Amino acid sequence: MIIAVDGPTASGKGTIARALGEHFGLPVLDTGLLYRAVGRGVAEAGADAEDEEAALAHVNFPDALLANPALRSERIGGFASKVSAHPKVRKALFDRQVAFAAQPGGAVLDGRDIGTVIAPDADAKLFVTASVDARARRRFQEMQKRGEDVTLAAIADDLRARDARDSGRAASPLKPADDALLLDTSDMTIDEAVRQAIALVERKTESRR
Ligand code: C5P
Repeated sequence: MIIAVDGPTASGKGTIARALGEHFGLPVLDTGLLYRAVGRGVAEAGADAEDEEAALAHVNFPDALLANPALRSERIGGFASKVSAHPKVRKALFDRQVAFAAQPGGAVLDGRDIGTVIAPDADAKLFVTASVDARARRRFQEMQKRGEDVTLAAIADDLRARDARDSGRAASPLKPADDALLLDTSDMTIDEAVRQAIALVERKTESRR
């Protein structure tokens, strides 16, 4: 069984994908990490993330890099958002994601274009959203816990800019697949969102059997 989980930054899709993997006994790939790995390569080289060829020089990273916590910083997220707009970068990362989805038994993948491009035949597709306010509040709390000095307004501005880049780009823009099930987590706790996600996938895959 292949489960595709797409949605914007800080919607809760990563937590939901991990919980679905655990519940259904499937391996999980957070595809944002692939773009983050390229972004980090660009950042370390002091290169320009808007330059497609410069970004392309960093697509051959080892799998082990994906476990590096440095990939999860806001700064690298900003680089990832820029390098992910380049069609050649997306193409270079395509096979890795398709191979992960095609492994025996199936997989859960989360990202922006899983249901539309990477796994269009997925058994269940979720599109997880939440309002900018709800996502900014969650991110703010996480960052405060880590002792980072940020304001709620700056986070909300950054989320809006990333949403605009992700949704507005020509190459694989962020948008729900026609057959995606929508899950708006704005007013849910994470436990509620996970419960609803499991129920949606169960209902969908039962109706396909
Ligand atoms: O999900 P995460 O915030 O880790 O993703 C980092 C960046 O990678 C996003 O801003 C998005 O632009 C990009 N991305 C993408 N396609 C995916 C996953 C992530 O374009 N499948």
